[in-house]
Amino acid sequence: MFDHLERARLATTPTALEAGPVIDGGTRLWVKRDDLTGLGGGGNKARKLEFLCGDALARGARALVTVGAAQSNHCRITAAAGAQLGLEVHLVLSGDEPTRAEGNQLLAALFGAQLHFTGAAESHWGELEIAREALTSELDAEGLAPYSIPIGGSTAVGALGYALAFVELLEQCDEQRITPTAVVFTSSSGGTHAGLLAGRAALAALGSAVPDVIAIGVAKGVNVGLPDVAELGNDVLDLMNLPDTRIDPDDVEVDTRWIGEDYAIPTTAGDDAVRWAAERGGWLMDRTYSGKGLSGVLGLAAEGRFDPGADVVFVHTGGWPALFAANGVPA
Ligand SMILES: *Cc1c(COP(=O)(O)O)cnc(C)c1O
Repeated sequence: MFDHLERARLATTPTALEAGPVIDGGTRLWVKRDDLTGLGGGGNKARKLEFLCGDALARGARALVTVGAAQSNHCRITAAAGAQLGLEVHLVLSGDEPTRAEGNQLLAALFGAQLHFTGAAESHWGELEIAREALTSELDAEGLAPYSIPIGGSTAVGALGYALAFVELLEQCDEQRITPTAVVFTSSSGGTHAGLLAGRAALAALGSAVPDVIAIGVAKGVNVGLPDVAELGNDVLDLMNLPDTRIDPDDVEVDTRWIGEDYAIPTTAGDDAVRWAAERGGWLMDRTYSGKGLSGVLGLAAEGRFDPGADVVFVHTGGWPALFAANGVPA
């Protein structure tokens, strides 16, 4: 399903599937360590960038352009991919240039990327995308052959990484002799979600028992368009040469109750989850993504969503460098 696709080997996979503690309702928590994908400090974007960069190289690109919030993990990992592949990297970021770079920005600059500050408010995604398109045109005119990647790398090509990750995860569950009832993860631009659903649909079509896929939304306005996730997932299935396998729109589940006020604004439940993860598993989770995502898992378990004794996998999508930015660690 994947062998015909262009892929740059950038991520350290398979990532470990770790047994975690038993949580509320007798749910056994498992953690899929996609924070440890290696590239540039790791995180879910490494898997997407394998296919995005494979495509970029096949098209003869000499530069990568992408976009994100001030503490974008995706931008940091794209910077590392460019460093590894010898491609110039341009990052379009929200906010103004800080007097001292911190967290993900510090690392992106260390990887040699050029940071372009738009002054845009944190989650004004539309404004950021327009700035990315403008910069791409400029670089194109300069003859740099840029490959331009939208927010979060959430194209069908990028999402392929998570279709493959779903297959990898189910193989590991077989090895561990568990049949998880749900795979839960942190979602913003929807590419991870679309990829996981595509992988799920592909395996279901082959007759495998497949878990529910539950997205914990951490950004408004990016993933509120639920049908888009199914559409993007179907585009992934097309790339996998499975045009007759489709995603049932009813299988697209985004739980938006854990966002709080908005993207990157910490919540009490999320901060509790950051501390819980650190103290119970030595896991590094951040306040914008993984902490809120895990708060969703713990909250769903407390509500009785999972049967007693159920195995539930949380895909840890990364984000630790943000702990080292201002207010990165909850007080
Ligand atoms: C980007 C990101 C996500 C969300 O992934 P999407 O595919 O954009 O929905 C989750 N967690 C972390 C740490 C991220 O950097």
